[in-house]
Amino acid sequence: MTSNERVVVIGSGLAGVRLARRLGELGTPVTLVGEEEHRPYNRVLLAEVLAGRYSPEVIALPAPAELTRARVTGIDRTGRTVGCADGSVIAYDRLVLATGSNPVLPPLRGLFTEDHELPEGVHAFRTLDDCLGLAKAVRPGVRAVVIGGGLLGVSAARALAVRGAQVVLAQQSERLMERQLDPAASKLVGRHLTDLGVEVHTECRVRDVRCVGGAVRSVEMADGYALDADLVVLACGVHPRVGLAQAAGLEVRKGVVVDDELRTSDPYIHAIGDCVQHAGTVYGLATPALEQADALAALLAGDTGSRYTGTRSLTRLTLTGPDSPFDLAAFGETEALPGDDVVQLTDATRGTYRKVVVRDDRLVGGVLVGELGTVGALARAWEGAEPLPSDGGPLLHLLTNDGGS
Ligand SMILES: Cc1cc2nc3c(=O)[nH]c(=O)nc-3n(C[C@H](O)[C@H](O)[C@H](O)COP(=O)(O)OP(=O)(O)OC[C@H]3O[C@@H](n4cnc5c(N)ncnc54)[C@H](O)[C@@H]3O)c2cc1C
Repeated sequence: MTSNERVVVIGSGLAGVRLARRLGELGTPVTLVGEEEHRPYNRVLLAEVLAGRYSPEVIALPAPAELTRARVTGIDRTGRTVGCADGSVIAYDRLVLATGSNPVLPPLRGLFTEDHELPEGVHAFRTLDDCLGLAKAVRPGVRAVVIGGGLLGVSAARALAVRGAQVVLAQQSERLMERQLDPAASKLVGRHLTDLGVEVHTECRVRDVRCVGGAVRSVEMADGYALDADLVVLACGVHPRVGLAQAAGLEVRKGVVVDDELRTSDPYIHAIGDCVQHAGTVYGLATPALEQADALAALLAGDTGSRYTGTRSLTRLTLTGPDSPFDLAAFGETEALPGDDVVQLTDATRGTYRKVVVRDDRLVGGVLVGELGTVGALARAWEGAEPLPSDGGPLLHLLTNDGGS
């Protein structure tokens, strides 16, 4: 890329803002285009805003000075321009898609009004607007049903409970946060939510949303049981936002397909963050989005050797109750295969649980609940993928020594 080329980035979320800032620092001008009305913010902290712990200003990102507020509606790859909903057209030499994810809207009867809108009281949990809408509606005693018991649903349920809502969490599968946690850790998360007053139902499928006058009144389960609800939060996962890429004829599978230079099937168009599929993986997490932004910034600023080769990412979640902070972290494979070694420490009284899984002298995964002192050392041992000394002692040391984390 030559120094006077125009870089245009679509999406001012975590990935887009990081890329624009890095390019600014490296002296490469960039046009950042974002559709959300608010100042760019850290989406990972939305649950803290909902819980009333942070104000929206606190989660604002240090954004680059130049931000164009517009929604891009189409890409003309031949003319190398993008068109926006307000009629404006922006020319590029290099285009970067950082369009993030959309919430999954589950196939529930009654989920949409005749105007194809969500009924009053039903909210997704993806944007600051979703969060402010929920924060406005939640009051002590309000009956809230959270649909989905993954990372998003658990965060939303806990935040609403902290605000005094009567919360029911409906999780379709057997346990909470099953993508990240093993059964014992899921159970502790369930216990923590129950202690906050959340009613947790697993193996429970919501089938219907019942409304009166355009506002939600109840949800109905597959077994016919109805739950009264003033608020419903949809926390059923996300899918990469790939509409623009698809319409422009770029290669898209689950996400926009990119190579190690974060380049799509068009050499003048790159993609980063939640919208991307790299080496078969769609991450949907903050750390990979930031690492991809850093790798691409270096590349676009002239470091031709810069590559993104994947992220081994650790999920960390802090659930801060009124008087019981509760942390958890998980990485890699948290359930052992036959032949793996497992070291596990449980303290039922303190509600802590620590476990690591070792295969062929290498740490392949772990989960920590309630006691995160060792997370830094464990993450380093996992990321480094170095063989562990074989006498077993160092493993226990890794689980119990919080030095250097
Ligand atoms: C409540 C919540 C909690 C989370 N907690 C965690 C966590 O604990 N740990 C973790 O790792 N991850 C977490 N995540 C996921 C994390 O937020 C995402 O992985 C991260 O935000 C991805 O960054 P991104 O820039 O790719 O996408 P986004 O942050 O979604 O940003 C994309 C931006 O692009 C804009 N956009 C899209 N299309 C257009 C268009 N056509 N024109 C203009 N603008 C457009 C969107 O409006 C949006 O502002 C959480 C997410 C949520 C919602």
